[in-house]
Amino acid sequence: MAERHYVIIGNGPAGYYAALTLRQKAPFARITIVSKTWESCYSPHKLPALIAGKIGEKDLYISSFESYQANNIKLRCCQAVVELNLENREIILEHKEVIRFDGCIIAVGGMPHIPEPFLAFKDDLVTLKSLEDARTWLARLSDVDSVLLLGGGITALPILKTLHHLDIKTMFMLDQHGVRSFSRCAPASEADVKKRLDGLGVKILEYSKIQDIVAQSNGSCVVHFADFSVDVDMIGAFFGLVPNVSFLSGSGLRIDQGNLSRRPGPPAQTQVPHSRPPEHRSRHRRILQSTITCLPPFFGMRDRYPPNFSDVNR
Ligand SMILES: Cc1cc2nc3c(=O)[nH]c(=O)nc-3n(C[C@H](O)[C@H](O)[C@H](O)COP(=O)(O)OP(=O)(O)OC[C@H]3O[C@@H](n4cnc5c(N)ncnc54)[C@H](O)[C@@H]3O)c2cc1C
Repeated sequence: MAERHYVIIGNGPAGYYAALTLRQKAPFARITIVSKTWESCYSPHKLPALIAGKIGEKDLYISSFESYQANNIKLRCCQAVVELNLENREIILEHKEVIRFDGCIIAVGGMPHIPEPFLAFKDDLVTLKSLEDARTWLARLSDVDSVLLLGGGITALPILKTLHHLDIKTMFMLDQHGVRSFSRCAPASEADVKKRLDGLGVKILEYSKIQDIVAQSNGSCVVHFADFSVDVDMIGAFFGLVPNVSFLSGSGLRIDQGNLSRRPGPPAQTQVPHSRPPEHRSRHRRILQSTITCLPPFFGMRDRYPPNFSDVNR
C-alpha cells in the first residue's frame, strides 16, 4: 500500500506538535509541514520578554531544524498556502506548486485584527504577533519615550508589562473588547480595570476614532481624535486575532469560532460561491470529516491562558 501523505499548514506550536503526534501514530507516513515564514517553531507568547530584553531570540524556539529531520518530518519554509482544493485533495502554494495530501491539518493560528475605523491608519500602527513584529518593536523602542496602545486584546497585557519594565510612558485607549478581556483575566468592573491601569502609571484615554495622524520632525506623531490630540512616539494596535484563513476562500470550507465547517447558505463576502451539485456536496462532507482537521488558535498553548494583572506587576 502506498504511504499516506499528511500535510500540516502552519509551523506554530499547534502545527509542530500535531506533526510529532502524527509521527507517533503513523510511523511510516509522509509528513510535510508547510510554513510561510522562515523560522523553526517558536512561542509567540514569549515575544514581550524578548522585547523587554529578558530573553534572546534563541530562547523563543520550541524546535530546532534538526528535530524535523530526526522525526522524518519535511519542513517547507517560506511557502505560503494560497488555496485548498478539497475535491482533488491538494494545496496550492504561492509559487503555484501543487501538493497532494491524504490528510490535512490546518494550524495557521491567527493574525492581528484592525477594526474598520482604524484601517486607514494601518501603516502607522504596530502589531505584535510574529517574530518580525517583535523585531520592529525592538528596533523602535530604543528611540521611544511614549507609546499609545489601542484596543486591549488579551496580548496587550504582556506588552503593557514590558513597557512598564522599560519605564516607557504609556497611554491606553481601551475599546469595549479590551475592557471585557481584561475583566475576564481578573474579574473586575470597567472602573476597576481603569483604576488598576492608572495605578501602573498608564494614562487612560476615552475611546474615540482617529481623525488624523501627523508625523513630527522629531520622529514622534500627533494623533488627532474627535475631541483631543496626543503626541506620542509609537502606536501599538491590540484588537485581538482573527483566523488566518484567506486560502479557504473557494474551498467550500469556513472557520466559524474555531470550528471547521462546510459553508452553509449564501457565500460570505470575501469568498467565492461553490456551484457543486448536491451529490458532490455530501461527498464533500465525507471528505471533510475524514481528511481535514483544524486546530484553533491557542491550541498549542491553551494551558498558558489567561495572563493576569499580577503578571503585569511582576
Ligand atoms: C504577545 C503574545 C502573547 C501571547 N500570550 C499567550 C499566552 O500567554 N498563552 C497562550 O496560550 N497564547 C498566547 N498567545 C497566543 C499564541 O500566539 C498562541 O497561543 C499560539 O501561538 C497558537 O499557536 P498556533 O500554532 O495555533 O498558531 P501560530 O503560533 O500563529 O502559528 C501559525 C503558523 O502558521 C503559519 N501560517 C499562517 N498562514 C499560513 C499559510 N497560508 N501558509 C503557510 N503557513 C501559514 C504562520 O506563519 C505561523 O507560523 C500570545 C500571543 C502573543 C502575540
